[in-house]
Amino acid sequence: MGDASTAWRAREADGLFHRIGAFLAEHRLSPEPAHYAFAYAVLVAPNGPLAAQVARLTDGGCRLTREDMVRLSGGLSAGAPAAESERRQPQLDQAERLVAETQAQVDDFAAIVRTMRRETNGFGRDLAQSAAAINEATPVAVADLSRITGVMIARAKDSETKLALATDETERLRTKLAEACETARRDPLTGLANRLAFAEAYATRKPDQGPYCLALCDIDHFKRVNDVHGHGVGDRVLKMIGHALVENCNGQLVTRYGGEEFAILIKGMKLTDATKMIDRARKTIANRRLRNRDTDAPIGAVTFSAGIVAVGTHESAEEATDRADKLLYNAKSLGRDRVCAG
Ligand code: GH3
Ligand code: MG
Ligand code: MG
Repeated sequence: MGDASTAWRAREADGLFHRIGAFLAEHRLSPEPAHYAFAYAVLVAPNGPLAAQVARLTDGGCRLTREDMVRLSGGLSAGAPAAESERRQPQLDQAERLVAETQAQVDDFAAIVRTMRRETNGFGRDLAQSAAAINEATPVAVADLSRITGVMIARAKDSETKLALATDETERLRTKLAEACETARRDPLTGLANRLAFAEAYATRKPDQGPYCLALCDIDHFKRVNDVHGHGVGDRVLKMIGHALVENCNGQLVTRYGGEEFAILIKGMKLTDATKMIDRARKTIANRRLRNRDTDAPIGAVTFSAGIVAVGTHESAEEATDRADKLLYNAKSLGRDRVCAG
């Protein structure tokens, strides 16, 4: 091969490969990808925080347990992103946080595996070049050496295959988690974005897309629909109103905020225009005459009342929602089927 840096890289990779093997053997950990990745993370940063924690735990000749490893690797990848997401989205519940943390772990794992693949690729290539060079020089004397090198190449190829499988698995996991994140932000009954999605959209408003308005819409006398026609019909009416709001709100974010309440985050519109838009939606919905599709019994008009406010640049979601809620209450007190702006 004649290239000092290639030889050096081969020795480095070989050394790391053996040190990872020794680490796994020392702690009696099986050579599965998660353990391998953990050992890799410890050994490539011997002065890093993870290596320091491992050293503390194993001080006095103790062995690392699988539980230690799970705990340490969880802390390693999830700590900082979780704190950041907590600052951005205080409403994240525990399940949500778990999804976000797992996502961060998977991303870290994928990055580690990709690095390992690069390393083992180089290792295999360098070994192949060495074997060819040895064969050319003195074929008979180094036959054994060449055979050993061949075994090592096969071993490197084997780990490449395993790592490729681990990478595919990680990609599948990543897709599933993305789906889980999407599901967590959708209301299953109406298919609309839910309260979490609203909170996130509110928290990530962009000044250059403003001004923003917030409308809270609540269906009038909805309990009656349930009482007279049953919950199944009530559910269908909820869906119908949700979709009618989407159709009449020109691409603005319509979310199911609670039972029969919808919150709409309107961007790029002044309060007067946003109020007109919500009032048009109100009239359109109020003009529909609904029927129970099973019995053909008339349900009649279903209306909603709304409170709408212009959102202050630094106003919290709670403050804006409280103001809109007070105006919604006014709309109800004034006889319902109306929009109150403030
Ligand atoms: P108001 O005009 O004062 O808003 O009267 P209302 O009857 O709409 O208000 P109230 O808060 O008394 O009742 C809301 C009802 O909405 C009660 C609850 O059973 C119903 N509801 C909430 N979520 C759902 C749902 O997912 N499906 C159905 N069918 N009903 C729901
Ligand atoms: Mg209500
Ligand atoms: Mg209501």
